[in-house]
Amino acid sequence: MSDRRVLLLAGSTEASAIAREVDGRGGYELIVSFAGRTKSRVDMPGEVRVGGFGGIDGLVTYLRAERVDALIDATHPFAATMPHHASEACRIAGVAGVRVCRPPWSPGAGDQWHAVADLDAAAAAIESLGARRVFLTTGRQELAPFAGLDDVFFLVRTIEPPDPMPLPSATVILDRGPFDLAAERRLLVDHDIDLVVSKNSGGSATAAKLEAARELGIPVVMVDRPAPAGLSTVATAADALAWLAELDQGGVVQAG
Ligand code: NAP
Repeated sequence: MSDRRVLLLAGSTEASAIAREVDGRGGYELIVSFAGRTKSRVDMPGEVRVGGFGGIDGLVTYLRAERVDALIDATHPFAATMPHHASEACRIAGVAGVRVCRPPWSPGAGDQWHAVADLDAAAAAIESLGARRVFLTTGRQELAPFAGLDDVFFLVRTIEPPDPMPLPSATVILDRGPFDLAAERRLLVDHDIDLVVSKNSGGSATAAKLEAARELGIPVVMVDRPAPAGLSTVATAADALAWLAELDQGGVVQAG
């Protein structure tokens, strides 16, 4: 039997683990796909391609041209479009697909969370809560909704510098997780933060800020995830690999 061709849509922490494992197993030809939003990419095994496919039709064409046997959508939990495109393209092209999406965080005892539907609602919540010094971790391309908050200082943490920086009063820290509790606590204290704004990405790599906020009695505005896509979803990289193994044994009957 020839090697199975696997298309891995990257963007999440889980994508790296899946790529390493699939590459190391043998019996697979791995293609790792990045959207190309960041200049510095995590190193990945396999063949790497960069850039959009050109919508659902483009992805269908790609799946057929590249003779892809299985698609693993390991884009970030806040990727709103690609999971829908992946699901539709798999259905049309008859390719088996799965989405890896870690569970969201949920508030525990002592947390003061304000759940909001999107970034505009997060900006409105900053105003209604009367916050003055906000730790903002929503990403460098999603700062515009906060631009009108002239009286608020933002501590912005991003992987690459925001360009342009739409916020009138901001300090930018460039860093990539994982982050630990002591450092997160120090950050909140040193910058006199009175509110944390975060997307509900889930996972352990960036959860320490929530623990630090809880300890310090700082409220959190938590942005909910986009609606789930149509592919069947698993929670971990290990689950995705189990799905792939099951597919090889003929145990997966549903493409999406
Ligand atoms: P999105 O809204 O789901 O995707 C927008 C478009 O980008 C897609 O329609 C697709 O273009 C292209 N695209 C997305 N992921 C791709 C991939 N892995 N390979 C090839 N093309 C891809 O996603 P987004 O929120 O703009 O995020 C872009 C990328 O950054 C995603 O891969 C995501 O995993 C990663 N990321 C996002 C966040 C976040 O908070 N949104 C956080 C961390 C990482 P075509 O329609 O032309 O195919």
